[in-house]
Amino acid sequence: MAAASISLAGISGCGPDQNDIKPAGGRVIDAHVHITPDKVKKALQVMDDNLIRYAVVIASLSGKGDDLYTGDKAFYELAEAFKPYRNRIGLHYTYDWSLAESDPDFFSKAPDMLEKAVRAGAIALKNLKQLGLNAKDSEGKLIAIDDPRLFPIWERAERLGIPVAFHTGDPVAFFKPWEPGNERWEELELHPEWSFADPNKYPPLETLFEQVNNVYRKFTGVKFVAVHVAGYSENIKAVGRWLDEIPNLWIDTAARIGELGKHPSGEGHEFFTRNQDRIMFGTDLAYWSECDVQGAGPCKDFTVEEHRKFYEIHWRYLQTTDKVFDHPTPIQGKWKIDGIGLDEVSLKKIYWDNAARFYKLDRFGVS
Ligand SMILES: [Zn+2]
Repeated sequence: MAAASISLAGISGCGPDQNDIKPAGGRVIDAHVHITPDKVKKALQVMDDNLIRYAVVIASLSGKGDDLYTGDKAFYELAEAFKPYRNRIGLHYTYDWSLAESDPDFFSKAPDMLEKAVRAGAIALKNLKQLGLNAKDSEGKLIAIDDPRLFPIWERAERLGIPVAFHTGDPVAFFKPWEPGNERWEELELHPEWSFADPNKYPPLETLFEQVNNVYRKFTGVKFVAVHVAGYSENIKAVGRWLDEIPNLWIDTAARIGELGKHPSGEGHEFFTRNQDRIMFGTDLAYWSECDVQGAGPCKDFTVEEHRKFYEIHWRYLQTTDKVFDHPTPIQGKWKIDGIGLDEVSLKKIYWDNAARFYKLDRFGVS
């Protein structure tokens, strides 16, 4: 597909054209992407085009559409595909939580599965949102995120010196009745399986946050990242309190610029500035086999130029004080956002230093 619009990219001094925005510091780690093996080349091309020197593949997910799979099968397939690019792409190991239901010995095997994956190149462990929400044990009981049977996993992560990521909950609207008044109506229409509003099936969002925070508080020797602004971008005051209280907790911005931009820009500025040492830049850009997804929204064969625009909106939100523009994931809601104009010192930490330190990327020659 050819780009239809006339691009002014590269021409400086052409006024307010947002094509001029480049990330502060000139180098970025995207700490939250998804790449399948057949899309590595495209991902690298987009990364090169947007000064993304390193990307963290946040979960071991592979396959196509309804056949998306996780666990060992996905991890070893991805680890093999990313092997030649250790200074460009990092990979999280991810459990297939359905094993906890089908294999009564899962809990005792899990720590060794993690260790094996770390030996094969995993830089961290990612827990999918199924944990707490619908993952069950072999007796068919829901597994709480702070279930003691999982403690040996977090202890092993500490011993191995790797960070642990949690995706907890989902947008608040997904836990509210799925009806036209729901602010994420369109997104839910596209993904009905994202509705967790049935109280007979799913715990309330507050319970999930309580459980995961218990884990963060108990395992003080583990560095945790709570992805998607800790799953609570609607309430950055609460997230700010968690960050104040839990020094080993970090967050990423993946797929939440729209939601963050709903807060008055002054509040956003304050939140990012105060927590500038523990926020990692991430987009949730997904290069799936059959299509790409820009954080949320349509599954489409996006062009490299369209991905450049997607990144640019992120720079615009974080770096400028521009007013009333589209956020990167309009499917999440059609409101406009204002930029929060962070200073260069915070931007460099959020774009680079924090993730480089969190994942100890100097060992791979990432610079
Ligand atoms: Zn993601």
